[in-house]
This record gives sequence, C-alpha cells and structure tokens, in this order.
Amino acid sequence: MKYNITRDYINTGESRPGEANGTIQFIVSHDTGNPGSTAYANRNYFENVNPAASAHTFIDDRYILEIIPLSEVAYHVRYDVPTDNRLYGADANRAAIGVELCWGGNINFNEAYDRYVWYHAYLVDKFNLDLTEDIVAHSTLDPSRRTDPENALNRYGISWDDFLNDVTNAYSNYFVGEQVPEPVVNGASVELPVGVGDEGSFVRDIQNKLIRAGYGLPRYGADGIFGDETESAVMRFQRARGLRVDGLVGQQTLSALNTMLTAPTPRQDFPLPDGILQRGDEGSGVKQLQRALKQINFDPQYIDGIYGPLTEDAVRRFQSTYAALDNDGIYGPNTRKYIRMELEEQS
Ligand SMILES: [Zn+2]
Repeated sequence: MKYNITRDYINTGESRPGEANGTIQFIVSHDTGNPGSTAYANRNYFENVNPAASAHTFIDDRYILEIIPLSEVAYHVRYDVPTDNRLYGADANRAAIGVELCWGGNINFNEAYDRYVWYHAYLVDKFNLDLTEDIVAHSTLDPSRRTDPENALNRYGISWDDFLNDVTNAYSNYFVGEQVPEPVVNGASVELPVGVGDEGSFVRDIQNKLIRAGYGLPRYGADGIFGDETESAVMRFQRARGLRVDGLVGQQTLSALNTMLTAPTPRQDFPLPDGILQRGDEGSGVKQLQRALKQINFDPQYIDGIYGPLTEDAVRRFQSTYAALDNDGIYGPNTRKYIRMELEEQS
C-alpha cells in the first residue's frame, strides 16, 4: 500500500441513491472541471446541495476520498449516452467506478496525480480489471459534452496514453505479486468515528481543522495523536453545533467541521427562477432561464424575457436529455434542478 483511502460517505439522497451496483467492469476517469475545489469541498457540495449526479471517489493532493461506497451506484455518466453500453454492455452508472481528479488552485498537481494513478491501479487490482481495456475517459463515453479528464491532464503535459502507462507502472510496482489487504482490514483507511487513542495524519488533519475553526489545542497542537485535549475540543465543537456530544469524530461531526471551514460555493452566476414558466410568460425570470439555457448550450436564440417557441424548444431539447424529465417544454422545479446541476458541472 502506498496511500491511505479515506471513506467518508455522504448520506443517502439524490447524490447517493443507495442502490447496489452490478458487477464492476470498468473505471470511468473524470476530473472535476472545477479548478481549486478539493476532495472535501466536493464531498460537502454533494452532501449539502445533493444534486442527482456524483462520483464514488474524489482525489486531491491530500485525500483519496470515497464519498459513495464502491458497492453502490453513483451517477457519473449520463444514462442516455450509448458508448458505455456498446463497449461494455452495461451502463457506466451500474458497472463502473467513477473517479474524479481535483486539480488547480492550491492543489499540488503532482501529489494529486500520483494518488489518482495509484487509485486506478488499486481499482484494477480490486475488481480484476484489464489495464488496457477497462479504464475509460469520461470524454470517450460522452464526447459531445465532456472533455475530462484529458482537459486537466493535458494542462500538466500528460496525455491519456501517458496516464494509462503510469497506471500500468503503478500496478506492477504496488499490486503485482503482493497480497494487498483491504484497506479497512489493515487499518490503512480511516474508519469513522475517530476518537481517543487514534493516531495518524487523519487525526492531524482533524486537529488542524479544529484549530482553524477556533477550537484551539494549546498544549499539544496538531500532533496527530487523539488525546484528551483533542477530545475536549471536539466536545466543545459538538456542543456549539448542536451535535451529539460524544467526543468522537464521526461523519456528522466531520461534515459539520468541513462545512464550517469550507462553505460550499456553488456558482450563482446564473440564478434560476422558482415556480413554473411556460409559453406566453414574460419577465425577468424568463430572461434568467434563457441565460442559463444558453450557458449550457441549449441556446434559445433570444435573451428577451419572452417565453416564445424558441425558448420552449430549448427547454424541450434540454428535457429530452434526461429520462427523468417530461419533454413538455414547461420549466418547473424538476427541470430547474437539472439545469442547476449542469451549471454546477460546468463550473
Ligand atoms: Zn466527468
């Protein structure tokens, strides 16, 4: 083992439907398309905004963070693209693990990339996949809409073939001939909750977060050892946030801490109106909708605040890309939700 895997699952909901996966046949490689957003920032986003899209694992320069159990479905590829069915005879959302690379901003690319490569090798080993055939770029499955992860990799001079080579090397360096225990069994992954007696870099991260959140550790600081001082800081934090005061850092406490430190910042450049809009409606809400449609490449031609046939057609074309939406050309809460999701995906 070279890296730890952190399992910090989001609650079930839109992002984590809780359905069991089928047999895992391949890996879909993504990047977040959102420079500077970390693994935990993504986790918080999916936990809090809870869109009907997600991926299993987010990787930055510090964490390999599984936010959805690998045994469950994550929505990381559109159901209506046919390439996954053609190549693998299955929908990616049921037969593949979705892995996202976090990059840009303050994220150290080399550190993040090494983890990303290693984790692909780990999955190849875990699910007995083929190194040459069973790793596929999101862009290959959905070429009209997606450029990941090449978009991120190319910025750092790495081609798709370079990446596959690196995964192959990581596989032979770390996984061939070695009995790789499940992370949980050998303690390499972080099992929540964490409490008194636990040690390691994950404890140090929690301590750093407590300090940044204003719960100081004056005696020992962030020493990576979960002792009495850390426990009492956790309890003060839990009390202040109305959480169960047990001094253990479990999912809820960790989420609350992360939320406090990195409030999610979904893009609000394209506000969307509430309620229902349809042909014949006029006003600023229609204009907002038209701007948003244009942004996600369903151009209504005019940004004039009038819900005419072209706007109706753009809405209908958008709706037709989601099985969950009626193609009625009427904008309502469901359509709003999916437009919002696409705006977020673009950001
Ligand atoms: Zn993607």
